Amino acid sequence: MTFNDLALTEPLQKAVEKVGYTNPTPIQAQSIPAILNGRDILGCAQTGTGKTAAFSIPTIQLLNNSQETGRGKVAIKSLILTPTRELAIQIGESLADYGKFSNLKHLVIFGGVSQHSQVQALRNGVDILVATPGRLLDLMDQGYISLSKLEIFTLDEADRMLDMGFVHDVKKVIKKIPAKRQTLFFSATMPDAILDLAHSILNNPLKVEV
Ligand code: AMP
Repeated sequence: MTFNDLALTEPLQKAVEKVGYTNPTPIQAQSIPAILNGRDILGCAQTGTGKTAAFSIPTIQLLNNSQETGRGKVAIKSLILTPTRELAIQIGESLADYGKFSNLKHLVIFGGVSQHSQVQALRNGVDILVATPGRLLDLMDQGYISLSKLEIFTLDEADRMLDMGFVHDVKKVIKKIPAKRQTLFFSATMPDAILDLAHSILNNPLKVEV
């Protein structure tokens, strides 16, 4: 299978070509068509399997397709929640690569740094927000972030999120996003606590294991 078999639109095909990928990894080959069809995903995958592209590429394509013309300030349509600042930054870099020919704005927010520039960027409008849980809740509590128009929610490295004690934060975030949404859930391992969380937030997911 090649990326040409995945029904990607021109902006995504060009971006994939530019980063130099020819064949999708197994998790990409399974997840991308399902996500483009609106399915929820329960993905069991480690870092290094290509899972970031597996959720980023279809997210960008879906948001490109739903974009209104004459865009003013945009609402956050996609949230990618990840446990660490390093992962958040890496996901931001991937979004920059795969979104190179798409007219979408993404922003990466995490704690331990001043919130000033993050708040400024939020004021300009963001389509895809990449966040660690603490800073996200903090900025939501201060009224800088609304997730009422969210369409796609991605939870990355759910098991690490749990290990780092973020489970209550994650549950708080989930209470504040629309029930009608697409959810993409990724974890390297699937202990019972993770499966319980997954089943409480997913709707008939495609299970993908690599
Ligand atoms: P990830 O598992 O998302 O952290 O990705 C691991 C690495 O694989 C990253 O450096 C990606 O740039 C690279 N990668 C992702 N998808 C592909 C692909 N289809 N072909 C070649 N490299 C890829």
